[in-house]
Formats: sequence, structure tokens, C-alpha cells
Amino acid sequence: MTFTPHGDHLIAGERVSAEGKLSSAPASGNAFEFSAGSPELVAEACAAAHAAFSGFAATTREERAVLLETIADEIDARGDEITEIGSAETGLPEARLQGERGRTTGQLRLFATHIRDGAYLDRRHDTALPDRQPLPRPDLRMMQRPIGPVAVFGASNFPLAFSTAGGDTAAALAAGCPVVVKGHGAHPGTGEIVGDAIVAALAKLGMDGGIFSLVQGGTRAVGEALVTDPRIKAVGFTGSLGGGRALFDLCAKRPEPIPFFGELGSVNPMFVLPEAATARGADLGTGWAASLTIGAGQFCTNPGIAIVMDGPEADAFVNAASEGLKAVAAQTMLTDGMADAYRSGARRVSEAAGVKSLLTSTCEGRSAAPYLFDVPAEDWMANEELSEEVFGPLGLVIRVKDAEQMQVVAANFKGQLTATLQMDEGDFDLARALLPVLEQMAGRVLANGFPTGVEVADTMVHGGPYPASTNFGATSVGTLSIRRFLRPVCYQNLPVALLPADLQAD
Ligand code: NAP
Repeated sequence: MTFTPHGDHLIAGERVSAEGKLSSAPASGNAFEFSAGSPELVAEACAAAHAAFSGFAATTREERAVLLETIADEIDARGDEITEIGSAETGLPEARLQGERGRTTGQLRLFATHIRDGAYLDRRHDTALPDRQPLPRPDLRMMQRPIGPVAVFGASNFPLAFSTAGGDTAAALAAGCPVVVKGHGAHPGTGEIVGDAIVAALAKLGMDGGIFSLVQGGTRAVGEALVTDPRIKAVGFTGSLGGGRALFDLCAKRPEPIPFFGELGSVNPMFVLPEAATARGADLGTGWAASLTIGAGQFCTNPGIAIVMDGPEADAFVNAASEGLKAVAAQTMLTDGMADAYRSGARRVSEAAGVKSLLTSTCEGRSAAPYLFDVPAEDWMANEELSEEVFGPLGLVIRVKDAEQMQVVAANFKGQLTATLQMDEGDFDLARALLPVLEQMAGRVLANGFPTGVEVADTMVHGGPYPASTNFGATSVGTLSIRRFLRPVCYQNLPVALLPADLQAD
């Protein structure tokens, strides 16, 4: 290991060390010591973000675009070190970290292009109608404005793309909102070096250091202090349902409640329709096994549940999936705690009424190997626990009797990030019947593919009804995600010279 973290917090452009310490727990290589966070340090970071807000909100779109691009360049300049520490801390392969870095810098650059274009401002103008009867209409102009300082909590499974300089941070900075990141305990060194890149970019451009701070964790009090700080105006969170719900509730209970954009877990149901099962059941089973095991199954879009119509075609699908999963060697999970939670989740599924174990594993420590179970639809519907996410490479097959029962099962799913249809042309009638249910259930509906890849694009929706997310009508991936950190302001009869520059041109 050539990279040694300095172990300090990054507050308003300064490295700040604290007496309390925490240690990293890497999957390989040396552990390092980091200053632990505290409510006092959070308050310092929030005060700096608050002080920086009005100046940052007044920057031009071009200035913020250049900031985003400079952050991307600074991340690229630290590329090898990021890969090294990221891979050691998380156990994710180097190639995965390199790919995720490309996604992260791509996201920053995409937001630069997006704000330069200006369409995201959604500028509207109702011109004055002084002679209108019975009442004149005033001159009305509207534009989206930044919401204020944003708190960001990244997830353990995407140490770059959903973390310190991930989608939430990129969207908030693009909007003109300062950011305070709460570092994730599973990758403090990765968070630190990416934070250093953001600090370096701000310094290079002579911008206010308060626009970005990183406070490492330590105890739950750090995150709690962050979401309840009165200077924070919105939260971007990616993580578990339990953690997200706890912080969401704190946001709602504040004297001034604020939006909490939580990206939580999902089981991402995949419906294998009969014609597709007959034509290519075994291929679908093999593909499913591959999708289930990418990154040790630690994807929020992991298709954990497949719904098939009972019969020989279902058997072909299940047998191929089982063979595919059997061939996958044990993989390292992100933390010891996650590996334990995975095994206890698998135990809970295996002990549920009606569940048959098709593939079990006996991994220990931080490693995980796949499990496969199947269950009749009636038993699945009778046990709500079976629709909860088990984070890891675990597949559950629900066997339905007929098309009607498939629709009943579909209606029993709670909110999901994605829903998938595997179908051929002869399946279109059933697909048509399922689609209104899937649309209600999920943020993204896909056909004949697997949901694990999430394209960063203008059209992407990564979110969904609760409990997949608390993002009511929003997405955390793609350019539309900037909307979370903006709010519309209407300017009535304001002299043009006093309007924000972006409205004056209109
Ligand atoms: P996590 O355990 O919920 O942690 C996320 C962050 O929240 C950490 O910084 C954690 O701090 C903090 N936190 C959690 N509970 C808290 C509480 N009660 N009070 C204060 N802070 C709290 O999630 P994770 O294990 O990192 O991530 C894995 C989960 O994320 C999976 O369920 C996965 O499906 C989901 N995920 C969702 C998406 C999506 O886009 N929907 C993407 C990736 C992952 P501490 O570490 O200090 O506890």
C-alpha cells in the first residue's frame, strides 16, 4: 500500500483533526486511524456551508460547471490511489473501482453540460396584462433556485459513485448548494482522498471553502446532528431502509421539517412470462444467476426475486439458475457486519413456511456465496418478511399457478426501484395486464434485461415508491436528480435589473 490517509476531517477547506479516533477495517492491507466525527464538528461544517450559500447560489452556471469539471480532473489525477485504497477498504476488485471512478467523473461532467444548457431552470414568464378585466395580471416570472446547504450520506456499496463526490454531491453543487458529507465508516480513506480532490478544486478556482466539508462518522450522533442542524435544508441519503427511515423521521420532526431524499433497498422483482420461459427459460436462469452475483450481490438493483409459472419451463429456469450460482466462488463482502446480516437473512428465508432450499452455502467471515430458494405464491404472500431485501447474492423464486396469480403476486409488492419483464411477443397480453401494476410499484420498468446496470442519463429514474426510496417523485441518478435540490421561486413585478441574471435574459 503506497497511499496513507492523513486521517483528518475536511472542514471549509481546512484539515481538522480531533481527539476521538476511529479505525478503518479494510478487507485487505493496513487499517488506518481517522479522527472521529462529533456534533461540534458537524456544527462547524454546517456554519461554513450556511455562510458560503448566498455567494455560491449567486455564481454563474459556467462557474459551477467549471467547478464540477475541475473536481472530476482532480479525482482523475488521484485515480491510482483512489483505486488502491478503495479496493483495500471495500474488497471490491480494482477493475470495479476504476469503472466506478469513470462513472463518478462522468456524472460530474454530465452535470456541467446540463447546467450550461440551462433548461433545468425551467424558466417561465407570464407577461403582465394591465388591461385584463376584471383584474389586471401582474408580470410573473419563475425559475428554480438552489435550496440551501445539503447533507449527503453515501452508501457502503458504491464508495465513489454514491458517496463523497457521487450523484448527490454532484447534483447539489450543480444546483448551487454547499454540501456537508458524513463519511461512511466502511471507506473512510476513500472518502478522504475524494474529499481532498473537491477541496483542491475549490482552492484552485479561488472559491469559498465552506462549499464542501467532509466530517467522518464514529457514532450515530454525527449523522443525527447533521440532519437536525437548522442550517441544512435537504438531505441526500443512500443506504439501508432502517438507517434511512430513522434519519427521515428526524428530518420530519425538526421544528423546520426538510426533504429527505433517501435511496433505500429493493428486491427488484423479475417476472418471467410463459412464452419467454418456454423459449429460453434456461438462458434466463443463467443470466439471472450472473446478475444476482455481480459485486457479491451488493447492488440496490439486485433482482432478488423471480416470479415464474410453475411447470417444466420453470424447472428449466430454476435448474439453470442453480447451476449458474453454484459455479460462482465465494466473494468478499463490504464489511463483516454485512456478511453476518446476509447469512442471518438467508437463515430467515430458509426457515419460512413453504420455502425450499435449492442451494445453500457455508461461508464464514467476510465472504459470501450464493443461496437459492423457491416458494409457492401462497406462502410468499402470507409472509411479508419474504419480500424484504437480503443484501447479497441470494435468489428467491416464487412459483405462481397461472397468469391471474402472477398479477395477484405483482400487486403484493411494495415500492421497488425496478421491475423487470422477461417476455416474448406471445406474452404481450399478460405484460399489458401487469404494466399498470409495475408502473405503480417501481421507478424503472424494464424488458428483457437485468436491472443491475443503472445508466447515468437524462431519462434515468433511480427511485421508487416507499420503501424503495423516500424520493417522492424524484430520482437520485441522472440529470433529473438536480430537481431535489432546487425550489421554484416566482418573481412578481420585479424590475428586470433586480432579477437573478438567469431570468434577466428572458
Ligand atoms: P446504512 O447502514 O444505512 O449506512 C448509510 C449511512 O447512514 C452511513 O453513513 C451510516 O452511518 C448512516 N446511518 C445509518 N443509520 C443511521 C442512524 N440510525 N443514525 C445516523 N446515521 C445512520 O447503509 P449501507 O450499509 O451503507 O448501504 C447498504 C444499503 O444501501 C443496502 O440496503 C442497499 O440496497 C442500499 N443502497 C441503495 C441504493 C439506492 O440507490 N437505492 C444504492 C446503494 C445502496 P454509520 O456507518 O455510522 O452507521
